Amino acid sequence: MTNLAGKVALVTGGSRGIGAAIARRLARDGADVALTYVTSARQAGDVVAAIEAAGRRGLAIAADSADPRAVAEAVERTVAVLGRIDVLVNNAGIFPYQALDEVSLEDFDRTMAIHVRASFVAAQAAARHMHAGGRIINIGSCLAERTGGPNMTVYAASKAALTGLSKGLAQDLGPRGITANVVHPGPVDTDMNPADSELADLQRKALPLGHYGHADDVAATVAHLAGEGGRFITGAAIAVDGGFAA
Ligand code: NDP
Repeated sequence: MTNLAGKVALVTGGSRGIGAAIARRLARDGADVALTYVTSARQAGDVVAAIEAAGRRGLAIAADSADPRAVAEAVERTVAVLGRIDVLVNNAGIFPYQALDEVSLEDFDRTMAIHVRASFVAAQAAARHMHAGGRIINIGSCLAERTGGPNMTVYAASKAALTGLSKGLAQDLGPRGITANVVHPGPVDTDMNPADSELADLQRKALPLGHYGHADDVAATVAHLAGEGGRFITGAAIAVDGGFAA
């Protein structure tokens, strides 16, 4: 028996990057895993194949996190197909990098919708099905605590909101034995933040460890929170950031 045997997880934005690493890791730890994606159907299929290769059931769901109905339906579909939901990982994200004057209200609303509203909608829908031992894990960003540069006002605001969301959920759901936390990654080498981009050296200089993280580094912390090791951790903001916040 592995740590998550018999559990079902839903990872939003699980087709690429950090979300794909989390989906694979939770499956290796014994969970059946559903994942959402918006455009990358082929990559989502590859992640499902990896989940099945680990001996678990996988399910890819096309669901745009900007659409609250699609998010709620993804939770219901997970329960309908995989039978339950024990672990929700709100990971889907975008990285708007814009000068303040260039940010439109539509840009603002879209970022908030994908990062904050979708996380709330998914948590509310999932909590209706969760039992004691349920886990909600939100993926924030180290930029929520220390922005470190210009052009990231809306991104930072949306990720900081996940700290408040997680603390509120911890209060609301703690009496039912369900935990809620936020993990704040630092620079991780993905399509969103390639380790060979123009901005990469600047980011490495901001890290005491001096190098980018791997998506598996974030997945390891999520797996810890999702498993027995996370049973007394709730309302916490956990940095997996190479020391960025230090
Ligand atoms: P990637 O761009 O590599 O992957 C993003 C994932 O989110 C993809 O699976 C993508 O789906 C999905 N996604 C994007 N928009 C939507 C949407 N509207 N609805 C549903 N799914 C969507 O990003 P990362 O893996 O780097 O980032 C994952 C999370 O980690 C994000 O929340 C990000 O903000 C956060 N983070 C990342 C850091 C980094 O340095 N990489 C640092 C700190 C935080 P599809 O493949 O279909 O496009």
